[in-house]
Amino acid sequence: MGKRILVHVCCGPCATSSIERLLSEGYEPVLFFSDSNIFPEEEFMKRYENLLIVARLNGLEVILDEWDHSRWLEAVKGHEEDREHGERCLICFRFNLARTAEKARELGIDEFTTTLTVSRFKPSAAIFRIGDDYPGFQEIDFKKKDGFNRSVMLSKELGLYRQDYCGCEFSLRDRR
Ligand code: SF4
Repeated sequence: MGKRILVHVCCGPCATSSIERLLSEGYEPVLFFSDSNIFPEEEFMKRYENLLIVARLNGLEVILDEWDHSRWLEAVKGHEEDREHGERCLICFRFNLARTAEKARELGIDEFTTTLTVSRFKPSAAIFRIGDDYPGFQEIDFKKKDGFNRSVMLSKELGLYRQDYCGCEFSLRDRR
């Protein structure tokens, strides 16, 4: 048995190469779908169901957090007009990482990390700065070792749903 690590997962596609890497590095990942930023709720469930496909293939457990979107909206209040990659996104990262840190503590898992670093559009350094505020956070840059390209390839192989907007209603608005 490897070392248990709680993995905040943003979606199935990002989980593919991240899980592959963690398993190859001897970890025993426990997946945590905690993404109250995703809007609407149907989209949240769609991303969760795609994660379940990846988890089942790897024989892994997924813990589903509640869709606490109203609390998330409260957290980003005043930043609705921010551009993607701005302050709102940093608050959003913190929102999900704080919940993951709390869940790791509750489960007695010493280490946690996030698949957010797979994305080419999300700066790993900023995610690490936030994660480091919480005990047990592991700075794992999943876009390294060709992680992003591999996630695209594996998602296609598995026929996973790949969303075309980041997650919140503001990113959906900006995409439109
Ligand atoms: S654009 Fe993405 S990272 Fe930024 S606030 Fe919205 S869901 Fe969060």
